[in-house]
Amino acid sequence: MRLVSALTTLADLPEKEWQAQVVQLARTLGWRHFHAYRSTKSPAGFPDLTLVRERIIFVELKTERGKLTDAQKDWIEALLHAGAEAYVWRPADLDRAGRILAQRGDPFQARGEIVSIAASLRKRVLDEAAA
Ligand SMILES: [Mg+2]
Repeated sequence: MRLVSALTTLADLPEKEWQAQVVQLARTLGWRHFHAYRSTKSPAGFPDLTLVRERIIFVELKTERGKLTDAQKDWIEALLHAGAEAYVWRPADLDRAGRILAQRGDPFQARGEIVSIAASLRKRVLDEAAA
């Protein structure tokens, strides 16, 4: 019963609260973050968070059932294509997000790995877009 209610809570977590959790986790792990407080006059779809430490990460945050807009997909694809680390994280991705944020990467050594991660993420984003 407890598990069911925990999952219900996760599924209902508003994006704003999910974002606050990710920002708190990132700051604890030494990341600087940027978030456009009011993005209404900016180009549409740019990821919610830009995280900077020894490398730079772009994150689009979504609720458990939130859909990516076309503009959000375009930005993630463009960033991945450019060799950036870019992710779409939902509350269920918390553990994975934590692992990625905890990972220390020499930006030059890690580059080959990031490119291969980017290829698999790109596939995931496109699969998700098609779903
Ligand atoms: Mg978002």
